Amino acid sequence: MFWEELNVNDFAASVQTCKGVCIFPIGCLEKHGNHLPLGTDIYIARDIAARAAKLEEVMIFPSYPLGVVAEVKHKAGTVAISSRLQFQVLEAIFDEISRNGYKKILVANGHGGNTNFLNYFAQAMLEKQKDYMVYVYDAWSLRPEQEKTLVDKYGPIPDGGHADHTETSQIMAIRPDLTHMELVKPEESRSLGRADWFWQHGVFTGINWYASFPHQFAGDPTAATSEFGEDMLTYNAQNMAEVVKKIKEDDVLPALIEEFYNAHSAPQL
Ligand SMILES: [Zn+2]
Repeated sequence: MFWEELNVNDFAASVQTCKGVCIFPIGCLEKHGNHLPLGTDIYIARDIAARAAKLEEVMIFPSYPLGVVAEVKHKAGTVAISSRLQFQVLEAIFDEISRNGYKKILVANGHGGNTNFLNYFAQAMLEKQKDYMVYVYDAWSLRPEQEKTLVDKYGPIPDGGHADHTETSQIMAIRPDLTHMELVKPEESRSLGRADWFWQHGVFTGINWYASFPHQFAGDPTAATSEFGEDMLTYNAQNMAEVVKKIKEDDVLPALIEEFYNAHSAPQL
């Protein structure tokens, strides 16, 4: 169910129905090649959450437009507030979600550039005692057997990670009116390779992605279809629903968090 659609009575009752689990879909606003909308990652994360909610009852927080995307400030339409501010905003929102009774927050991430930040965010949440848990999850997760089924049905998946076969197919399934294949420029999807040595030798820099794919386009979307997108979204949703079910049942990690806080005020041998 969607937070913004409920009246106050239904909201109050929802905490019990959803067993206190709230999905927080997150993506970003950034260029996705020339052919996909700026909010591609937001659409995909929210669509997977909505499909998952049909399989496993769960609250879904309203659309959040921000993500960690400073490396795309050279392209029109990017909105990149500072990561420090974003950290504070997320913590403040999560505190509010918790104050409303939702003590288990599943961050459903649709943007690869958010992954490092969100894992760090979850780790840093241990610095202060909270009365809720944050679970971070990449919405695009696929099981090996699901990938095999897709490959058997459609052939090898020509993904590169951005505005590629999968993302294009998913947007074709969700919002076909926002997909413009006539704008695809295949030459812009090739890596310029300017950071390859560092990638290959395990050295990370903030400019690595720009050095390789300055056009925000990686992969070959020319054979994308809404059927493939629909199958992918279905698997993604099944996997997310499974995660929601597990989080509902999870009393181990919350108990360990409490044990940890009790112990860290009086460290022992
Ligand atoms: Zn994307």
